Amino acid sequence: MKKQLKKFGELLETKYKGYDVNGHRGVAQGRYEGFAVTPGREPVSGVNENLKDLALPFSEFCKKNGVELVQDIWIGPFTSFGYGYFDEIPAAYVLMYLDFQTCMNFVKINLWTWEKGTQYIWECLDAKLKNPARLNSNITKVERKDGKVFVTVNGKVEEYDKVIVTAPFYVNDGNDGCDNGMLDYFDAREDEKELFSKIEYERYTVQAVTTDPKDHPEISYYVFDNMTPGRLGHLMVYYRRWRDTVDQVITTYALRKHKNKALIPYEDCNKTVLDDLKIMGNPAKEVVNKWSVYYFPHVFTEDYAAGWYDKVEAMQGKDNTYYAGEIMSFGDMDETAEYSRELVERFF
Ligand SMILES: Cc1cc2nc3c(=O)[nH]c(=O)nc-3n(C[C@H](O)[C@H](O)[C@H](O)COP(=O)(O)OP(=O)(O)OC[C@H]3O[C@@H](n4cnc5c(N)ncnc54)[C@H](O)[C@@H]3O)c2cc1C
Repeated sequence: MKKQLKKFGELLETKYKGYDVNGHRGVAQGRYEGFAVTPGREPVSGVNENLKDLALPFSEFCKKNGVELVQDIWIGPFTSFGYGYFDEIPAAYVLMYLDFQTCMNFVKINLWTWEKGTQYIWECLDAKLKNPARLNSNITKVERKDGKVFVTVNGKVEEYDKVIVTAPFYVNDGNDGCDNGMLDYFDAREDEKELFSKIEYERYTVQAVTTDPKDHPEISYYVFDNMTPGRLGHLMVYYRRWRDTVDQVITTYALRKHKNKALIPYEDCNKTVLDDLKIMGNPAKEVVNKWSVYYFPHVFTEDYAAGWYDKVEAMQGKDNTYYAGEIMSFGDMDETAEYSRELVERFF
């Protein structure tokens, strides 16, 4: 393992130079362009034919490079965090989030937790904005005509010059966490429909339960054996948020979708997880909340390699519409915020 890890680190630095640049612009064509992963986040760009390999599922990417063992390290903060399985998810996503340094920070448990939670960060940011976010605004229609954008918000039509879409683009079935995407309420063009209908997302299933404090493990834990497609629907992470109190709910996480398998029904998955808790000697007393969330929108290898991202990037600005949000980089806050910052620098 040590040897392969070292080799992997070196390959990423050299053969795959540019692999960690935010966003996916040019990758399928063997280019990189965006902000560097440095404290200064300076813009970088270049040509590197090898980057095309990033369209491969991560398991194939590792095999091609003779570093299959490193998957045992990367899987912990990837699959159990709801980002899918290594035989289906392109390496580009895995390595955008878990670039070498970030993954090593997980290994060394060099991690932080925000004292007041992440919601607080956005509230502080919002307080500084000239035009703060308008909450509880349900957008039911967007029409782009006459060089303007007409948005129906809470039943009233408002006129804007431009729109940046950061809500889901496409949701292909009813989901408790989110049941529509922009294709449902925009005057979507054919190119938007064609591209966005390729988007898949994870059905990440979360339950908050109370358990007997005497059964609590000391802190959160991963169930590595359940992070394979064969164990779809089983408990992968058991989250105990605070070490120093027993007065808290325990959160459980499971995936119920794999590219080549039937979707596990939501309630069946919940039951499996509750059974897993019993087997682990930590049965739930009560489920206080549960949610099957719209999570980690992405495209698969074929579309990635066919330049899905470059096609979407080429539409930026058409009909005064810009595309951002997690699909354009990766389904976490860091990558998503960084992509948005760069989008604004590029176009506004
Ligand atoms: C359970 C869970 C745990 C996570 N844990 C982490 C973590 O630990 N670290 C991390 O970095 N990331 C985490 N993430 C991922 C992170 O939250 C997302 O990647 C990020 O929020 C994506 O940002 P976004 O702006 O693209 O979309 P969102 O934050 O989802 O924002 C989209 C917004 O659009 C709104 N919207 C949608 N449709 C409409 C409409 N028609 N009208 C009006 N508004 C609409 C939605 O209500 C939503 O507020 C987690 C996500 C979940 C669900």
